[in-house]
Formats: sequence, C-alpha cells, structure tokens
Amino acid sequence: MLPPARHNSLRTVFLDRDGILNEKMPEGQYVTRWEEFHVLPGVPEALRRLNEAGLRVVVVSNQRGIARSLSTAADVDSIHAKFAQLLARSGARIDAFFICPHDKNQCDCRKPLPGLFHQAVARFPDIAGATSIMIGDSLSDIEFGRRLGMETIFVEGNTQHIAPGAEEAAKLANLRRASLAEAVDALLTEQ
Ligand SMILES: [Mg+2]
Ligand SMILES: [Zn+2]
Repeated sequence: MLPPARHNSLRTVFLDRDGILNEKMPEGQYVTRWEEFHVLPGVPEALRRLNEAGLRVVVVSNQRGIARSLSTAADVDSIHAKFAQLLARSGARIDAFFICPHDKNQCDCRKPLPGLFHQAVARFPDIAGATSIMIGDSLSDIEFGRRLGMETIFVEGNTQHIAPGAEEAAKLANLRRASLAEAVDALLTEQ
C-alpha cells in the first residue's frame, strides 16, 4: 500500500511502454511498425482516468531496437503519433514520450539509469521523484523509480513470458498489479 501522504501529493505518473501500454514482443524482438503495436485491453480508459485526475502522464521507454538498426527513431515517433490519435478518440492523452535509443552500456538514459527522468524534468521543471510514481513490468523500471525516490508499481503482465528479474521487481515494488488498469485503480481508488 502506498503511504497516503505520498498518494495525495502525486503529480506525475511515469509509465514504461512495452508490456504496460502495448503487448510486449517476445524477448529480443521489437515493435517496428504500427501494425505490431497492439494496445493492451483497458489502456485508453486507464490513461483517461489519470488525465481526469489531473495527473501528468509520461512514458519512459528503452528502445534498443533503434541502436540495433531494427527500427529508426522516426519509426518510433510515427508509432507514438498513431497511438496518440487512437487515445484521443477515447479522450485520453499521454503528455510526453521519452525514449532511450541506445544499446546497453552506452548512455545515461537506458533505464534503470536516470537520464530519461532528467529529460522529463527539463521539459516539466516541477517534476520531482517524491511526487511521482513509476509503473513498469521489468526490474529496470522498478530500479529506475526507486533510485529516483518514486513509489513503484510492478505490473505482472503476460505470465507466459515472465521476464528475468520479475520476482525481484515484484518484491522491490510498493505494489503489484496485473495490468495498467488495475494499477490505476490502486492509485485512484484505494486508500
Ligand atoms: Mg516493459
Ligand atoms: Zn540511452
């Protein structure tokens, strides 16, 4: 359970992308075009609830497929633009996407490193770890949030593709839920 004081001061929700908003591809494969971007059930509604609660919604995503030349930054932007259009039809919005396009050990922005958080702060200077929460489906997401002083929610996602580190992530996170929709329920209705 999140401490109620934290809860009430919550301003920004950081979301991982793959496995939270859209179906995660099998390990080692990447979403490279819109046709492969399968929005998970309940996602537009869950995002709209966060919007209506006055919370900022920011996506932070490792996209190593760009470094591996499986897709380009323009492909990723184009997928996000189509996703934004789909969300708009449900009255939902993501305030910003921040992407690490790099391979491992080459930057300071591949989660769990904090670079994407600093990019978000550069865009929205009132963002602070203490008034943010991170929702993700991998250990790197939970470590990212914890290092920055955020509360964290681990989403278990597809139990047929349990990621390495998932057990540890579930233990480290403040909460564990089955989907973004359930995580949002926990944030907005459970006290
Ligand atoms: Mg993920
Ligand atoms: Zn990076």
